[in-house]
Amino acid sequence: MENVKESPRLIATDRCDVCGAQAYIRVEMETGELLFCAHHGNANKEKLQPLTINWHDQSEDLSQK
Ligand SMILES: [Zn+2]
Repeated sequence: MENVKESPRLIATDRCDVCGAQAYIRVEMETGELLFCAHHGNANKEKLQPLTINWHDQSEDLSQK
């Protein structure tokens, strides 16, 4: 099994764990991963970031339409 370093991009079917909106932020932690929409990602960032291995933020996609 390959050790994949690059995070796969979030897609339209990935959903925020809090509200169910489309996820733009993936938070990788020792215990697993969480998906957030841009709003909830930013809302939880300060609290979660010390625990994260990787903070993958795709929210710039929102402004590229
Ligand atoms: Zn949300």
